[in-house]
Amino acid sequence: HETPFEKAKPIIKTILGHGYEAYFVGGCVRDFLLNRPIGDIDITTSATPEVIMEIFPKVIPVGIDHGTVIVRYQHESYEVTTFRLDGKYSDYRHPDSVTFISNIEEDLKRRDFTINAMAMDIDGNIIDLFGGQEDLSNRQIRTVGCGYDRFLEDPLRILRAIRFSSQLGFSIENNTLDAIQRVKDKMTNIAVERIAKELEKTFAGTENYKGIHYLIQTGVQDYLPLFSRYPSMLQQVTKGIRPLVTLSETVAYLHLLQPDIAIRTFIDEWKCSNTTRREAMMIADAYHHFKENGIDEWIAYQLPPSLYEGFIHVLNSIEGSSAEAAELYRLYEKLPIQERKDLAVDGKDILDIFPQRKKGPWIKELLNNIEKMVVFGQLENNKEQIKEWIRCHPPEIN
Ligand code: ATP
Ligand code: MG
Repeated sequence: HETPFEKAKPIIKTILGHGYEAYFVGGCVRDFLLNRPIGDIDITTSATPEVIMEIFPKVIPVGIDHGTVIVRYQHESYEVTTFRLDGKYSDYRHPDSVTFISNIEEDLKRRDFTINAMAMDIDGNIIDLFGGQEDLSNRQIRTVGCGYDRFLEDPLRILRAIRFSSQLGFSIENNTLDAIQRVKDKMTNIAVERIAKELEKTFAGTENYKGIHYLIQTGVQDYLPLFSRYPSMLQQVTKGIRPLVTLSETVAYLHLLQPDIAIRTFIDEWKCSNTTRREAMMIADAYHHFKENGIDEWIAYQLPPSLYEGFIHVLNSIEGSSAEAAELYRLYEKLPIQERKDLAVDGKDILDIFPQRKKGPWIKELLNNIEKMVVFGQLENNKEQIKEWIRCHPPEIN
C-alpha cells in the first residue's frame, strides 16, 4: 500500500528532471510529521505554471494568476504552486499581486503559521526555517513573523489559527494570541462564505471545544456574523460537544441550544446552502422526536440514512450521551417501508372507501396515522388489510 507521498513522488521527480526545484509543502508535511492522516498533497516549485502545463499532460489551470495549477496524476489531484511573494492585501481577501520568485525561503515566509511553513524534499529532508518542528512538539500555533502584521495582511488567518487549534488540539502561542486580539476588528472585511468555511472546520475539529473557547476568550466572536448578535450562544456550548462534521450539524446543534434563533437565521447570516438548511431542519426535527420518544423506528424512517451519523453527533453533543448510528441502521434494516410512497394505499384508495365524503385534510391525517402504524409494525403494509382497518376505524370529520 503506497503512501500518498510515494504516489506523488513521480511528480516531484519529473519537475526536478526539468531542472526546477520542487517540494512537498504545508499541511501535508505538518500532518506527516504529526503522524496524522494526510489530506491533500501540495507541491511548491520554482517552475512557473506555464512550465508545469508544458511538462504534464493533464493540468487544470485553477489559479494561474496566483501561480496555482492542479496536476492530475494516476487519478489523484495535486496542487502545484510556484514559489511566490504575496503583494499587499488591500481587499483583505486576495493579495493584489503575486510575484514569482526562484527561492523557496521567501515562499515559506509568506505562509501563515510555522507548522504550515515547512517543506519536504523528495528524500524526506525537512526544510524548517521558522521552528515549525519545535512548535509541533510544543503543540502550539505561531505566526511566521510578526503576528500583528500577518493578521493585518490577511485577517482570515485569525480564524485559521483558531480552527487549527480545534483540529490539532494545539494552543495558540501568546504573542500570536495577543496579535489576534489587536487585529480582530479587521475581520468584518472577510467574505461571509470564507468565515462559514472556517467555522465549519472549527466545529468539525476533534478538539472543537478548544477552538470554541478561543472564539470566546479572544473576543473574535464579537466580529463574526450571528455570534456578534448573540454573544451568549457559544457560552452555552456543552462540555460533551463532539466533532460536528458538517455545517448542517453545527447549525442544528446551535439552534437546539438556543431555539429562539431559527435555522433560517443561521442559513441567511452565514449564507449557507439550501441543502444545509434542509439537513439542519431534519436533524433538529429528529432531535425533538427523540426528546419525546427516544430513538425509535420513526427517527430511522424520517431521517435519510446519510444523516444518521450527523444526528447522532448532535444528539450526543447535547445530551453528553454515547448513542451510535449503528442502532439507527439496525432499525432501518427492519423498516417495512422506506418512504411515504411505499405505502400500499394512497388518498384515492381512501376516497374509494368513503364515496360519500369530500376531499379534505382528513385524508392526509388518516394517511399519516396509517404511515405511523405501518412504520411501527402495528399494521401490515398490505392494501386489503389497510383498507379493512380503515373500514373498522372510520375517521371522524369535523
Ligand atoms: P488542511 O488540512 O485544512 O487542508 P492546510 O494546511 O493544507 O490544512 P490549506 O488551506 O489547504 O491548509 O493551505 C495550504 C497551505 O497554504 C497552508 O499550509 C499554508 O502554508 C498556506 N496558506 C493557506 N492559506 C493561507 C493564508 N491565508 N495565509 C498564509 N498562508 C496560507
Ligand atoms: Mg490543504
